[in-house]
Amino acid sequence: MNRGKKIVLVSHCILNQNSVVKPYGRKAEDFKDLLIRLIEENIGIIQLPCPEISIYGLNRWGHVKDQFETPHFRKQSKLMIENILDNLIEHKNNGYDILGVIGIKGSPSCGISTTCRGDWNGSVGCGDIGEKLKSLREVCEAGVFMEVLKKSLTEIDIDIDFYDDFERFIQTL
Ligand code: SF4
Repeated sequence: MNRGKKIVLVSHCILNQNSVVKPYGRKAEDFKDLLIRLIEENIGIIQLPCPEISIYGLNRWGHVKDQFETPHFRKQSKLMIENILDNLIEHKNNGYDILGVIGIKGSPSCGISTTCRGDWNGSVGCGDIGEKLKSLREVCEAGVFMEVLKKSLTEIDIDIDFYDDFERFIQTL
């Protein structure tokens, strides 16, 4: 039996860069070190859903965390992870080791150590876009989807670490 009995949760776009906001998109190779290490260590990879593609689609604008702090975004995020939470309980009850969650630094949804905030709203053609751009900033807090995931994991007594520094995660293996 070659079950490693170890599992990690990763943000959707670590395995599918086609989901990120346009015009971004890294090469799959940029994630090679992390993914090869997971394979070498025989770690099962659970791909989290991409909340932004589900709620706003591929043609969304770039957002800030302030725009996702709505009851709907949180409720939909929770719905998206319900099956995953059930599976994690099942894995935990059967002695599997859940190593952590790997997110995306700076994302308004999937950031762990940092996310982005700002006075970013309204009609693009109206008002002073320059002033709005100036308000954009990186802050040291998690994105909304990761906040929902963390709270949900606490509710089911799963206490695991969250990473958005791939190297730091690799060093724990
Ligand atoms: S919402 Fe999360 S999974 Fe989707 S593209 Fe952004 S960082 Fe990646």
